[in-house]
Amino acid sequence: MCTMTWNIEQGSYHVFFNRDEFKTRSKAIPPKQYSVDGMQVIMPLDPDGGGTWFAVNHFGCTFALLNYYQGNLPKGDLVSRGSIVKHCVGFSAFCEVYRYLQSANLHHFAPFSFVCFMPEGQKGWSVRLFQWDGVALSIYTPRPPISSCAFDIEQVIEARKLAFEQMIRALPEGVNTSLDFAQLHQSHHAHAPTLSYCLHRHDSETVSFTQLTVDHLAIHLSYCDGPPCQTTMSERVSMMRSMPPEHHLDRAV
Ligand SMILES: [Zn+2]
Repeated sequence: MCTMTWNIEQGSYHVFFNRDEFKTRSKAIPPKQYSVDGMQVIMPLDPDGGGTWFAVNHFGCTFALLNYYQGNLPKGDLVSRGSIVKHCVGFSAFCEVYRYLQSANLHHFAPFSFVCFMPEGQKGWSVRLFQWDGVALSIYTPRPPISSCAFDIEQVIEARKLAFEQMIRALPEGVNTSLDFAQLHQSHHAHAPTLSYCLHRHDSETVSFTQLTVDHLAIHLSYCDGPPCQTTMSERVSMMRSMPPEHHLDRAV
């Protein structure tokens, strides 16, 4: 269970991610900067699976993983999906992600939605959704929000989409909207708490909120280590951005 939204602007983009988990799951290790095979990466870590659900590398490429409950669970032993983000975190082009997912044995993974942001040309940004439904891999150019939920999925998706559209309609054009996006992610549905962006169920809740900004020069990641409606943001983690190799600035997928 998770919800993500984003806003791509001229030369920069912002991602907002609520992680919803069962209350029995261990607390994640908040985001820090790591060196992975010579690549600087900012990511939180999940002590249960040993992987992560969200990472950004020093090229400014972002990788976010959500469950896809509408898919079919493959039979046999499954590998934690958190390993997918860690495997792809050095990539800087969609074609690299696609090649890896095509070559990996996805039948060892439960269904997932894998959202990646990559540079497009010298200054632009692009987003793709790689979706594994337990049978086949599909690629989409998604629109926000993306939600995953184990219960009442259609109702939840519809309610969160409606709340997103209402927020966008209420914004004056050309205004920096990161604060509005952050407020949406800590909002509660007026009548049905289980449809909220900030989720509170008897067995599960929104356990963290991640806010990322990538611009031409730098990467900034802030994190709420608890339900965003009642937790203040931690000090943000930042790093300078490097340009990826020229030949990676493509739209091969
Ligand atoms: Zn809340």
